[in-house]
Amino acid sequence: MFDYQIKDNCLSNKNILITGAGDGIGRQAALTYAKLGATVILLGKTVKKLEAVYDEIMALGAPEPAIIPLDLKGATKQNYVDMAATIAEQVGQLDGALLNASMLGELNPFTQIHEQIWQDVMQVNVTSQFLLAQALIPTMLNAKNASLVFTSSGVGNKGRAFWGAYSISKFATEGMMQVIADEYDSSTLRCNAINPGATETKMRASAYPAEDKSKLASPEDIMPLYVYLMSDDSIGETGKTLKAQ
Ligand code: NAP
Repeated sequence: MFDYQIKDNCLSNKNILITGAGDGIGRQAALTYAKLGATVILLGKTVKKLEAVYDEIMALGAPEPAIIPLDLKGATKQNYVDMAATIAEQVGQLDGALLNASMLGELNPFTQIHEQIWQDVMQVNVTSQFLLAQALIPTMLNAKNASLVFTSSGVGNKGRAFWGAYSISKFATEGMMQVIADEYDSSTLRCNAINPGATETKMRASAYPAEDKSKLASPEDIMPLYVYLMSDDSIGETGKTLKAQ
């Protein structure tokens, strides 16, 4: 695992948005950040799941989270602009954003990628992140130091047979991260990507239905890197893709 000792309350007084916060790695990141003192903004498409995470955070006695129900597949530029305006109005500054939500699409030969699946994967994994980042960066620049974190994959810098649209979308994610990091290099905004590595979630199970889950890392196991990149210990770190495992 990424070698980082998590410190108590290291995220207190930080406002952090997490996309895909209702399940898998995003859910765990939301709970972990809240436990460490952050006010988390939970964005996702299934309201019930977001409400369950909200309840878990309240039961921890952590700062009250906010919920933003949004389907990244159908969202328009205006949705992101309105969302950023609401965040700016309600919390003033955004110290962190973990762009974690994504979809796998289908794993099949390149010549058999369905155009609609291609469009959906690109919309959720690339275009929505572009629109989100564009809308959020001004609010992030209001923070003393802010951290924008994208989520890549092992297939995000080396293509793999049959991983078509998903793999290509993760290359684009890494490219977006590098462009933003370079552009804001001399600002208070840092921008990095995480490669979580094989982690036990629904997405992993749909890609590898037959594997032995007991050999996989849990979302909780991989949290040290997720916390490091949101904490002030990572100030100055930018433009990198870091492995959580
Ligand atoms: P997951 O368990 O399937 O969770 C994905 C999350 O994204 C869910 O909360 C889901 O919401 C949300 N989401 C999907 N489509 C959405 C949409 N259209 N609008 C809004 N939210 C949407 O997956 P995970 O394994 O935690 O993956 C998290 C990130 O890690 C992804 O970027 C993935 O590519 C990356 N990753 C994972 C692994 C792994 O082994 N698990 C490895 C490499 C990279 P709902 O639950 O409401 O559908």
